[in-house]
Amino acid sequence: MNGTSGRFALVVHGGAGVIEREDMSAEDERDILASLEDALDAGHAVLSTGGSALDAVQAAVVALEEAPRFNAGRGSVYTADGTHELDASIMEGHTRRAGAVAGVATIRNPVRLAREVMEHSPHVMLIGAGAERFADTRDAVERVPNAWFDTPARFAQLQQAQARERAAAEAPGQDPADLKGKYFGTVGAVALDVHGHLAAATSTGGMTNKQWGRVGDSPLIGAGTWADDRCAVSGTGWGEFYIRNAVAHDICARVAYRGDTLQAAADEVIWRRVGELGGDGGAIALDRDGHIAMPFNTSGMYRAWIGVDGDRGAAIFREG
Ligand code: ASP
Repeated sequence: MNGTSGRFALVVHGGAGVIEREDMSAEDERDILASLEDALDAGHAVLSTGGSALDAVQAAVVALEEAPRFNAGRGSVYTADGTHELDASIMEGHTRRAGAVAGVATIRNPVRLAREVMEHSPHVMLIGAGAERFADTRDAVERVPNAWFDTPARFAQLQQAQARERAAAEAPGQDPADLKGKYFGTVGAVALDVHGHLAAATSTGGMTNKQWGRVGDSPLIGAGTWADDRCAVSGTGWGEFYIRNAVAHDICARVAYRGDTLQAAADEVIWRRVGELGGDGGAIALDRDGHIAMPFNTSGMYRAWIGVDGDRGAAIFREG
């Protein structure tokens, strides 16, 4: 038992990256905040009636996958081939059960398939065509044509990314591999339930213009998602650096092994570890005492939270 037994908390994110206030219309901002609030409502409905952290993070992430503003589910970014390949993972803290899928193309809500992998397969992670075949056996998983994920805004982003990369390749001195803060977005949730249990989930379309079956950190347990019995994390950022730093696990390991506060652990990993290798992004983290940390070393991170004391908020920029 811990000090928060009987209370619950939930944090969601809709991605970190180059998000400039001057580039965002009032309507964009309103829509994005409303979608974050919808995700909080979905998770709150589970947690406030005694439901599990696992169900809450799934409900919140499904809501974010359904919101076309975010790079997950509908609204996912495009690959270099003009298609969508989606990744997701989910983990329950006290049991350490986990499920993940990568490179799926017809799964409306990849986080649901990750949950099915966790509960109805002997495996943790399934990819591509095999994951789709597993989905054929699970009635709970809705299928859609790949074009269902299309949105005009993401298509425009693909065209910009391709033009930018062509220009960079031709301009001496520019590194076409420098993607810092450029093409990201992901959704995620962490929750603490009234039973004192934690869970985390993350879902993404990955990186705009990705090729060769590129998979980032989001579906990798320990990199983009982690939950144990005292700490839960969902990351968002330049996935290669999150993999190389085992970001989500490292934050929780610092809490467990070093006795760091959640905030100190999350700040160290996002600001120093990811930053010093040249990566960028953010994370949401929650511990079993209900502490919340939401660091990001980018200009913005879409995020919203309900604390154990019932305080509720949503923000995009640092001052929020
Ligand atoms: N981490 C995700 C990836 O690399 C993208 C993001 O979070 O923005 O696929």
